[in-house]
Order: sequence, then C-alpha cells, then structure tokens
Amino acid sequence: MAKRDYYELLEVERTASKAELKIAFRTKALEFHPDRNPDDPEAEEQFKLCSEAYDILSDADKRLVYDQYGHEGLQGRGYSGFGDVQDVFTHFQDLFGDMFGMGGGFGRRPRRDAPARGADVRAHMQISLAEAAFGTKKELPLGHASPCEVCSGTGAEGGELIGCATCGGRGQVAHQRGGFLLSTTCPSCRGQGSRPKNPCDACQGSGEVHQDRKVEVSVPAGIDEGQTLRLGGLGQAGRLGGPAGDLYVSVMVESDPRFERERDDLYYELHVSYPQAALGAQVVVPSLEPAAEGEDEPSFDVVVPAGIQPGELVRVPGGGIPRLGRRGRGDLVCVVQVDVPKELSPRAQELIRELAESFES
Ligand SMILES: [Zn+2]
Ligand SMILES: [Zn+2]
Repeated sequence: MAKRDYYELLEVERTASKAELKIAFRTKALEFHPDRNPDDPEAEEQFKLCSEAYDILSDADKRLVYDQYGHEGLQGRGYSGFGDVQDVFTHFQDLFGDMFGMGGGFGRRPRRDAPARGADVRAHMQISLAEAAFGTKKELPLGHASPCEVCSGTGAEGGELIGCATCGGRGQVAHQRGGFLLSTTCPSCRGQGSRPKNPCDACQGSGEVHQDRKVEVSVPAGIDEGQTLRLGGLGQAGRLGGPAGDLYVSVMVESDPRFERERDDLYYELHVSYPQAALGAQVVVPSLEPAAEGEDEPSFDVVVPAGIQPGELVRVPGGGIPRLGRRGRGDLVCVVQVDVPKELSPRAQELIRELAESFES
C-alpha cells in the first residue's frame, strides 16, 4: 500500500505555515489520541502517521526533502517514522505539553492530586543509663515541616492547580543529547506536573508549614545506644487525606560514672581493703535501679571471698540490665580493686611489719 501524502494526512495546503501545521496536527492528534480511542488499532495507526507527517513537515530540512523526493527521499536518508505510540509521546513530549497542557487527555502521567503518605521524621533522644535499663516515657519536642492545612499541602490558594506548561503535566522534560533522549525533573514545577494557580497565603505556595509539637515516646527497658524506635503514624501528616509517615527516634544513652555497660551486663569497680581481700568480707554495691518514692537507694550485699586477687570478678546474677524484648536480666559484675593505704598510723605500721615478719618465717 502506497504511503499517504503527509499534507493530505494533516489536511493542509502544500503551502501551509508552521503555525497552520501545528493547529492541524493538534486537531488530528486529539481526534486519534489513544486515550480517546482505547483498543482501536486503526486510530492508533492514524495517530502515528499524523505524528510522522507533522514531524517531517515542521522540520524545514526534512520538508524540503519530502517536497522534492517524496517518501523515498526520506527513506534514503534513514527516516523510518515512529515505531509505536510511546515513541510519539517521547518525541513530542515538550510539544504535547505546550499544545494540550493539563487535562488535555494525555494520560500516562502519575496522578499528582492523589492522596500522598506523609514523610518520615527522624529525631534523637538522650536518656540516662538507668532510663535505658528500666524504660521510661519521655516527651519529645519535635520541630519539622508538615503539609499546610489551609491548602491541603498543594501550595495553591483554594487548592486550585493548573497544569505545568513546561512539562505538560508530566513532571519530566526531555532533552536531546547526542543520540540520546534524556529525561530530567521539570524545573518549573519541580516534578509536580502542576503549579498553584495562586500561591497559598499561609505557606507562601510551598505547601508546607513549620510545625512544633510534642510526642510522648515510650522507651522499652533494655534499649541500648544507637538503637532506633519506630513510632508508626507519628511522622509528617499525609497530603489530601493520605496516611501519616513514621517517626524514627534514635536513642543516645548518657554514660553513668559508676557503671560501664557491656550489652546486658553492668561492670562496677569494687574497691576493697587488703584485709577485706585477704580475709573475705560482705560489702554493699550500688544498684543502677532508681530508688522508689520514700525508699532508700537500692543496693546489693555482695560477699567477697577470702583471698580474692586484684582484677578478679565477683558476679551478682540478675543485677544488670533487663534484656530488651526478652525475660531476665544481665549480671552486675564487680571487678575487684585492692586498695593499698597511702598513709598509715604508727600502730598500723607496727602491725603490718609484724604481718610481714610472719610471712618470712
Ligand atoms: Zn513542569
Ligand atoms: Zn498552604
């Protein structure tokens, strides 16, 4: 079948101006557009042919070749028309944007006015070692952006948006680079595909407002430095009724001068005197557990066995940190430190000399 004449396809005179060609193509493209003619191969073929005709006739060089040598002249130069409809869209992306704007029936763009999930919010929280061990509830002040309620996050007065002419509502613009077609985020609408008709007063058109709020965070017993709590639905509010994002709280644990934490165990430096180490003793070791209302600081009675050496360990089973999400607790581990007296009374000196003599005999 012979290829139809391009001028006939667009129903224009052979002398048609560029502007006339554009109007003619617009009419044809709307008539045969795939969105208006779903599952109609004949319309699709017409759409492709009219696009091809416009592509040639709107280019002065190609039009000259076509006028002089017809279809064969173009084929001789390697021009083969469009493979499929998507080719047409890609090729004429910017043009379709100009011609039809938003709502011109050109599908395949994501819905920008659909409800959107709010963004996640990240925060830090500092707690004491005891709070980490036994859990706590804390109010966390948060300052972050949230969708503007006045304009439902659209940035537009009354929520009224207009299609972005630059990208035709696609949010992306194509550039020809060498032989490649590159797609980048539209600079006019920053990828939204639409722009506020008039900017919203409350948020100056940004769609976001700064929000200060307080969130109560329940810290589970046994949490450790660097762990993160996820609070579902406490992030940024959603847009247009979409669900809220999540809040992620990273926990930082202050060090405690008395204890070193090693996973679920607590290490405590236990100072004993030389006689205590030699003869054994019962000593009192502090607990990390905070004192209950009106009660004494909790503590452990620890038995130091006779003859213990510096650096040896005395364990208090269950005296450590509750295991996160599990039963049981770690241990309190006392590291024995034998103190040598720096000053001695004459009587003490005498006794130690006697002791030394007893070792020699
Ligand atoms: Zn745009
Ligand atoms: Zn607003």
